[in-house]
Amino acid sequence: MQAYPFYEETLKLTKDLIAIPSLNNSKGERVIAEYMAQWLGELPYFREHPNQLFLQPLKDDPWNRINVIAIAFGTKSEKNETIILHGHCDTVGILDYGSIQEYAFDCDALPEKIRALTDDPEVLTDIESGEWMFGRGASDMKCGDAVNLALMRYFTEHLDQFDGNLIFMTNPVEENQHSGIIHALDVLEEWKETYHLHYKMAINTDFISPAYPGDTKHYFHAGAVGKILPCFYIVGKPTHAGQGLDGFSASMVAAEIVRSLDLRAEFSDVYNGEYTMPPTVLKLKDLKYSYDVQTAFSAFVYFNYFIHNMEIDEVFARLRRVANDALKHVTDYIDEQNQAYCSMTQMAYKKREYELQVLDYHELYGRAKEIDHQIDQEIDQISGNGLKENLDPREICLQIVEFLSIIAGINTPTVILFLAPPYCPHNTMKRDHPEEEELLNSVTNLLKQLATEMGEELKMMQFFPVLTDSSYLKLDDSDFSIETLAKNFPNMEKIYNIPLRKIRRLNIPAFNFGCHGKDAHKWTERVHKEYTFGKLPLIILKVLETYLVDG
Ligand SMILES: [Zn+2]
Repeated sequence: MQAYPFYEETLKLTKDLIAIPSLNNSKGERVIAEYMAQWLGELPYFREHPNQLFLQPLKDDPWNRINVIAIAFGTKSEKNETIILHGHCDTVGILDYGSIQEYAFDCDALPEKIRALTDDPEVLTDIESGEWMFGRGASDMKCGDAVNLALMRYFTEHLDQFDGNLIFMTNPVEENQHSGIIHALDVLEEWKETYHLHYKMAINTDFISPAYPGDTKHYFHAGAVGKILPCFYIVGKPTHAGQGLDGFSASMVAAEIVRSLDLRAEFSDVYNGEYTMPPTVLKLKDLKYSYDVQTAFSAFVYFNYFIHNMEIDEVFARLRRVANDALKHVTDYIDEQNQAYCSMTQMAYKKREYELQVLDYHELYGRAKEIDHQIDQEIDQISGNGLKENLDPREICLQIVEFLSIIAGINTPTVILFLAPPYCPHNTMKRDHPEEEELLNSVTNLLKQLATEMGEELKMMQFFPVLTDSSYLKLDDSDFSIETLAKNFPNMEKIYNIPLRKIRRLNIPAFNFGCHGKDAHKWTERVHKEYTFGKLPLIILKVLETYLVDG
C-alpha cells in the first residue's frame, strides 16, 4: 500500500509479535520484551547509543520480566519537549480458543480455523473481506507495540527534522497488576532529571473497538477511568436456625447492600457529560468455615467502583449511606416478620432493639489502637504472612479488618467500610487547567483536520473506559482524597504500594491512540489492517511533527 509508508512494516511486526506467546504471568512476557529490545538494538541509532536503550528488570519478579525503554533525541535544536509512545506486551490467556488453541498465535492459519467453528455473521464477513488480522494479542495490543516500534525507527532516521525527543516503552503485567509501568516511573523520573526532559504527553496505543455494532468511529482518549474496590465487612448477631428471629443476619445485610448498590445508575460518576459504568458487585460471601445450624456471624462483599472525577470521601459518604440504609432496612424487615409471625402463632410480640453502627477502616483502626498499642506490628505480621503465602490481597485486607474488629470488641450489628487492591488513579485533561485545556483543544483540532484528510471519523473522549497503564502517569485526585484513600486501605504501603507522589510529580498528560479492533479478550480477537497499519501510524506521526517540531 503506497499511500501508507508504515503498512508493510507494522503488519509484519504485529504478526511476528503475535507469534511469540506472551500470556500474562508467563516467561513469554520476558521473551517478547527481549525481542523488541533486540529489534531496537539493531537500529543504527541505538547501535551507536546503546546506553539510551534500557532493559529494566522488575524487582522480585517470579517471571524475570523487564520493561524496555528507549530514548532518541531530535537534533534540529536542543529542545526538551518529549513524547512517550508506550504499550503493554502481555496478553490474556488462550483457553477461550478451545479446540483451536494451537492456532491462537498463527495469524495466517487462524481465520480458516475460526470460520469452521463460528456462525457469527459479523466474524464471517470480516474473515471473508480479508481486511482483518486475527490472533491473540492482534488488537490488545501487539499492533500497538508494532506501531510504536516503527515510529521509533522512523524518528531515529529523521532526527534532524525534530526539535524534541521520543521515548519508546513496552511494559509487562498490564492485564492484572500494572507493575510494569509502575516500575518504569523510576526511569521516567530519572531521565527527566538527567536529560532535563519536559514530558509533553504520553501516547498509549492500547486497543480500541467500536462502541456498538456498525460503529465506524475511531476513538481517542485524553485520560483514563479510575477504579477503587470498596469492601464491606459485616458483623451480625448469630443465632440458631430454630430461633431465627432472635438474630441479626449478616447475610441479609450483605444481600441488602448488593441489592442497593449493584448496577445503581445514579451512582455512576460523570465528568463533563461522560459517565462511568455504575458499581458492580464482584464478591459476596459469608465467613462461616463450615456447615452448622448457626446463622453467619459475619459476611464480606466488595464492588468494582469506576471513577471519573469524584473524590474518595464523596464515594465514602455514598457508601456509608448505603450501609446505614441496609442496616435499617434489615432491622425493619426482621421486625415486620417478627410481628407477622407472632400474630400467626399467637405468641407475645416483643420488639428487639439493636445497636447498629457503620464504621470506616480509619475509625476501626483508631478504636483498636486505643486498646492495643502494638497493633501496627500485628498488622504488619498479618500482611507479611499473607504475602508470603501468596494469599489474595483482598483476603489479607479482610484478615486485618477481622483482627481489628476483635480487638475493638465489635459485637453488635456493624458494617465496616474499607478499600482493597486494586486502586487505579483516574485522570484526564482538565478544562479548569489552562495548560491542559489548551493541549486537549489542540490535539482535538489536529484530529479534526486529519479526519477530513483521511475520510474517517476521529472522536476525542475524556476517559479510556477500562483499566489501562495510562492510569499511572497522571493523578487527578486531590491530596485530601488521597489521604482518605490511604487511611481506609489496610496497610496500603505493604499490600499495594502505588507511588502516588511520584505519579503526581510526573503528571504526564496520558492519551490513548489505539487500533481499530474487535473482540479483544475473545477468540475472535482481530484488528483492522488498513486503519491500524496504514492510518494510525500516520496520525501519531502527525502528532510528533506537531509537538516535537518548532515552527
Ligand atoms: Zn490492553
